[in-house]
Amino acid sequence: MARKLIIAGNWKMNHGAGKTREIVCGLRAELADVMAVDIVVCPPFTSLAAAVEAAAGSNIVVAAQNLHWAENGAFTGEISAAMLTELPVTYVIIGHSERRHYFGETDETVNQRLRAALDAGLIPIVCVGETQHEREAGETEAVVGRQLDGGLAGLNTAEVTGTVIAYEPVWAIGTGLTATPDQAQAVHAFIRNRIRAAHGADAADQVRIQYGGSVKVDNAAELMSQADIDGALVGGASLKVDDFAALVRNAAAG
Ligand code: PEP
Repeated sequence: MARKLIIAGNWKMNHGAGKTREIVCGLRAELADVMAVDIVVCPPFTSLAAAVEAAAGSNIVVAAQNLHWAENGAFTGEISAAMLTELPVTYVIIGHSERRHYFGETDETVNQRLRAALDAGLIPIVCVGETQHEREAGETEAVVGRQLDGGLAGLNTAEVTGTVIAYEPVWAIGTGLTATPDQAQAVHAFIRNRIRAAHGADAADQVRIQYGGSVKVDNAAELMSQADIDGALVGGASLKVDDFAALVRNAAAG
């Protein structure tokens, strides 16, 4: 079945409100005619309001890079789902490998965040992926399978169907190393099969699976042309208007 591509730019800890406004306005101008792709920008928390304002009425929507699972309370430095929906943002990234690596995220906390996001009506982008060491040890499917089972635990079929999965091999993030289209496709097919086994053919056919890991203008089209790759989560190449706009166009053409 045809799934609409979703290309999201994860800005990580880059761009304050002023720069965010400038970039979103630039992307609006460059990409106004691109309707075949869901275009998402993911600025830091303090730039979300600026992004939402600058994107209003356009084909660009906004994602947060994380959220906390509690509704409110004594969690210094954290942001709740309701705070995000009030802006409003549309998507939220959950379980990015940098969160797992630097901030101790586990499949359990990913699952708690996912529950909170879905309950609030946010669309989660849940990241999974193996390290270089795990790939070399032949553990890619075991690791990704475990992250999927733990992260998506307790979700019903409609919730899984509406969640975006981002397969991001850790060894390819920010390193300039990209999984080959064949390597990426193989893991995407594995993820889709795992969802088929747990939630049936319709959920598996509809769920969107992004690839992330050094996606650039030059490799986007070939990656997106793979049968089970439905978009990209892009870090470095999403930070400038020209790069990201060209990447989205190439992906749409792939
Ligand atoms: C990411 O941050 O999710 C990512 C894939 O980064 P990069 O595109 O820079 O590898």
